[in-house]
Amino acid sequence: MPSRSDTAMVQDVIEWFAGQARDLPWRHQDRSAWGVLVSEVMLQQTPVVRVEPVWRAWMERWPDPASMAVAGQADVVRAWGRLGYPRRAQRLWLCAQAIVERHGGEVPRDGEALLALPGVGEYTAAAVRAFAFGERAVVLDTNVRRVIGRAWRGEAHPPSHLTRGERDAAASLVPLDAAESAAWNAGAMELGALVCVARAPRCDECPLRSDCAWVELGRPGLGEGSGRTQSWHGTDRQVRGRIMAVLRDAQEPVTVAAHPALRDVDPGQLARCMRSLVQDDLIRAAADGHTL
Ligand code: SF4
Repeated sequence: MPSRSDTAMVQDVIEWFAGQARDLPWRHQDRSAWGVLVSEVMLQQTPVVRVEPVWRAWMERWPDPASMAVAGQADVVRAWGRLGYPRRAQRLWLCAQAIVERHGGEVPRDGEALLALPGVGEYTAAAVRAFAFGERAVVLDTNVRRVIGRAWRGEAHPPSHLTRGERDAAASLVPLDAAESAAWNAGAMELGALVCVARAPRCDECPLRSDCAWVELGRPGLGEGSGRTQSWHGTDRQVRGRIMAVLRDAQEPVTVAAHPALRDVDPGQLARCMRSLVQDDLIRAAADGHTL
């Protein structure tokens, strides 16, 4: 078990973050709540280095929910580029419309109102409250779960699904002071992204190394339980991404089955992926092919 109090460990992370935080545009003082919301959705399944240029372009083009709400879905999905999981773009577009309709174009501060927006789940609502509005919140992404799991619970990897025990443990660590709470959330997230990484944690550089329960146990189970490296090549997700790339680059409807860039794809898989993209309302059938 950790030898020092939880409070001291939390403070160590806050201090470390003050010196090590990356300079990211959605952390700047002048960013809007909308900018924070967009960044959180983009960052959910995509690394910072790929998100940053797209986020900047989005903020330039759609600096507030009102400007995005009147855009066309195809433009929004096209501007999502190669961030992956394009349904996130579609949901942000719907979210912008809901913010305009229900909240006069201002991102709401209230947790329930945030959760009622399209595509906003528990994590995103908490992150917006913490990082956009400086409120006390329990922000639990994979990185934070890994840090808490290792340092406090002695577990190499968090469970595949968030458990009640994890949520309670995380909530008990969040400082009562709102500003400290936001710094802890951001710091734990950054520590998990930069130092306490999944496969090769750099414990020598970690502010928690002398108190970490997992280090004390001898770092057991690092190679277990994180085997989430299923091959991406040839999966439906990859094929969906390739179809989206073809349609993104096209100004006119495309006959996808005959497109040279997709000739190597099994026709059955191609048809299945096309159907699912149409069902997700990400692409549309036109008289002479498909389009965004
Ligand atoms: S000491 Fe190592 S395992 Fe523990 S929190 Fe830090 S980086 Fe993670």
